[in-house]
Amino acid sequence: MSPSKVSSITWDSFSNIIDGQPRGSKEKHQGVNPATGEKLWDVPIANQQDVDDAVASAKKAFESWSQVPFETRKEHLVKFKEAYLAHADDMAKLLAEETGKPHQFAQFEVHGAAMWIDHHLTLTIPEERDEDDEKVVTTRYTPLGVVGAICPWNFPIVLSLGKIAPAILTGNTIIVKPSPFTPYTALKMIEIAQEVFPPGVVQVVGGDDKLGPMLTQHPDIAKISFTGSIATGKKIMAACAATLKRVTLELGGNDASIVLPDVDVQKVAPELVMGAFQNSGQVCVATKRIYIHQDIYEDMLNAMVEFTKTMKVGAPSDNALLGPIQNQMQYEKVKTFFEDTKNKGYKFAVGSPDVATGKGFFVQPTIIDNPPNDSKIITEEPFGPIVPTQPWTDEEEVIKRANGSNTGLGACVWGKDVARAEAIGRRLEAGSVWINSWEKPTPAAFFGGHKESGIGGEWGKEGLKAYCNAQVMHSYKLKRQISKL
Ligand code: NAD
Repeated sequence: MSPSKVSSITWDSFSNIIDGQPRGSKEKHQGVNPATGEKLWDVPIANQQDVDDAVASAKKAFESWSQVPFETRKEHLVKFKEAYLAHADDMAKLLAEETGKPHQFAQFEVHGAAMWIDHHLTLTIPEERDEDDEKVVTTRYTPLGVVGAICPWNFPIVLSLGKIAPAILTGNTIIVKPSPFTPYTALKMIEIAQEVFPPGVVQVVGGDDKLGPMLTQHPDIAKISFTGSIATGKKIMAACAATLKRVTLELGGNDASIVLPDVDVQKVAPELVMGAFQNSGQVCVATKRIYIHQDIYEDMLNAMVEFTKTMKVGAPSDNALLGPIQNQMQYEKVKTFFEDTKNKGYKFAVGSPDVATGKGFFVQPTIIDNPPNDSKIITEEPFGPIVPTQPWTDEEEVIKRANGSNTGLGACVWGKDVARAEAIGRRLEAGSVWINSWEKPTPAAFFGGHKESGIGGEWGKEGLKAYCNAQVMHSYKLKRQISKL
């Protein structure tokens, strides 16, 4: 199989990539630069024919790609990483424009995504063997076929590459659908991938709201790997039921952080704030509820407020720490948390009840001091830079409070007494728990949610299996079998 050649990379025109070739469309749409509110470049809207063609190409490519030796697939991944990193600066610039991320964090995502490839290069597909006098039972893992990757807008590169790397390493072919809010970097990254992969192995289709259902309903797609909201996750699972597709659902969270009374307040306060406001709170595992022991509540809140006041919010060109909310829909949603807090008379420890209106979708980081348990800001995921704090005194009670959510994605526990912090962590209903750190997912560890935060998960060596069928070979020893007859 030889790679397809797409013309040399340009940074102001964007195409879907189907069967190794760029493809435009009659209808087009545009993303919006969230720092300015201005429209960005045209991008194609894929239709049913485009999806059918991409699936047919992926299905054909699967026949040979699934038979390519594992080590050769790794070599392709290495070449892809090199080709992608050769454009790192342009990718970071594009990412900053489509998401509004400060340049340093755009660079961080571009290079961090390459770490997802690096980690997958260290993995092997597991094979388990069990032998007795009579037989050898071997469990092996085989690729599923065509994978559809449906991605969100908050980390458009890392959350696409986090699906591409394990899917193709295990011998699947993949069609990526970026969010309509942030199509640009995924389209470009997969255009670059054509320098390395044969046609149909890695493809991308962007479009409007009709596109996701075309993938989830397609009979020749074997699996959907989805990252996004709980509401969409439920629709995807329902749609996939019709063809019994495998699904991995990485959904929303309402992560609790429990702070023990023995912590160093000055050291931990900025960490708590960063956990909540990283990427302007637009992180599935951002800290979304902070429970601080009563003995240090006031001191910790004051220290958090002081640190929050130092955080600069601005456009990528402003050398800021926090960028805007990525899109207008999310901006309007975040504003409802400010309105509710203001209307109910809860206390703003820092931040203003009135979100400034202007050119971009900017929101100042805001802490709400001790709102009630049933408040919107405690019970719902804002996905923006606004976080509540509450005091606690009784360990059993705060564990119940932390677990009192329909979500269970991440959680943090902070304490000098690490054994006590870990004991609390083990009782938290969350897929990932961090002790003395804010939420930092790594490609080396399985990532998935409990409760409504998801089904299954990906990454780490366990994550490879999410892209495979298990096949068990029961191989009887002939001599033994005959002697028994
Ligand atoms: P979203 O659910 O609105 O959209 C995600 C993707 O699904 C987009 O590509 C969208 O076009 C597509 N989509 C929408 N409707 C669809 C349908 N009916 N069928 C198929 N596809 C459809 O989510 P979002 O607003 O892009 O992302 C924010 C949410 O994602 C937050 O709740 C956040 O917590 C969650 N998230 C989770 C993780 C995780 O790993 N668990 C990571 C990032 C974001």
